[in-house]
Amino acid sequence: MDISIVIPLYNEEESLPELHDWIVRVMTDNNFSYELIFIDDGSKDKSWQVIQQLSQKNKHVKAIKFRRNYGKSPALHLGFEAAKGNVVITMDADLQDSPDEIPELYKMIIEGNFDLVSGWKQKRFDNAFTKNLPSKLYNYINRKISGIKLHDMNCGLKAYKNKVVKSIEVYGEMHRFIPVMAKAAGFGNIGEKVVKHQARKYGVSKFGWNRFINGFLDLLTITFLSKFGKRPMHFFGLVGTLLFLLGFGFAVYLGVFKLYCTFTHHPARLLTERPSFYISLTCMVIGSMMFLAGFVGELILRNSPVRNNYLVDEQLNLN
Ligand code: UDP
Ligand code: MG
Repeated sequence: MDISIVIPLYNEEESLPELHDWIVRVMTDNNFSYELIFIDDGSKDKSWQVIQQLSQKNKHVKAIKFRRNYGKSPALHLGFEAAKGNVVITMDADLQDSPDEIPELYKMIIEGNFDLVSGWKQKRFDNAFTKNLPSKLYNYINRKISGIKLHDMNCGLKAYKNKVVKSIEVYGEMHRFIPVMAKAAGFGNIGEKVVKHQARKYGVSKFGWNRFINGFLDLLTITFLSKFGKRPMHFFGLVGTLLFLLGFGFAVYLGVFKLYCTFTHHPARLLTERPSFYISLTCMVIGSMMFLAGFVGELILRNSPVRNNYLVDEQLNLN
């Protein structure tokens, strides 16, 4: 099979038939063998009924329905697990991404040998103040931290080699950082393609203001995880050791000074009246705790199987 198209959706009943027809048109025009995987992320409208109808008239339509709304990342994760095509395409369900981009993306993966190609909404049709501007800032910080030269890291329209999606686990709200995960997994050949973008035709955006703070915290997590996720002791052990040594240095200094005063009958202050005493104490305590955190991290890592338990309600055409 050439292409798996993975589409996460939450309350997008109006867009689905139009999106489906458009994708089918592109697939048949280009003679692609394909599957179209919808993941209904616990929609409360009639999205699932619409998908059922689509799957009856088109056997390429497959679908998974979540019991409740888990979020875009878990939806993508299950879509990735199911995808069988050589190239996996993800896109949003709201008609903001254009299926006409698929053939070119496909070509970049197959002929250009990219592991991942991300869309770039160069001319973007979203609110300038609440979306476009913050997104530019985010992408700038992201480029600096991750070293991946993408202008639009969180574009919903992306293409992957099949083995790339099988080697990453998109959880929480980490869909914003899939290229970072791919790079950490060893797939660093990442490309970019300017894609057409449209204003949302039906419905409303599903992400509110909290995406700023969540996105920032996730950026910290992903940076830490991609560096030290499999070796927490190297981070906590280093910080712990440095802090402990600093504290220990102060302690030795205080001890020597105390002895010196005793022997020379120098009138010294009490140790507990000196700031360095408290610095020493604090550093040694925090240092030891960091060290312990490192050990606990390693223990958890060694003993935890990878698991995700999302409750799937129904499936269509998937075995
Ligand atoms: N989405 C989802 N689960 C959610 C939120 C969003 O599956 O909890 C889907 C949504 O239906 C759409 C895509 O993720 O297909 C992108 O969402 P949206 O268009 O609201 O984001 P925006 O374009 O405003 O950033
Ligand atoms: Mg959208």
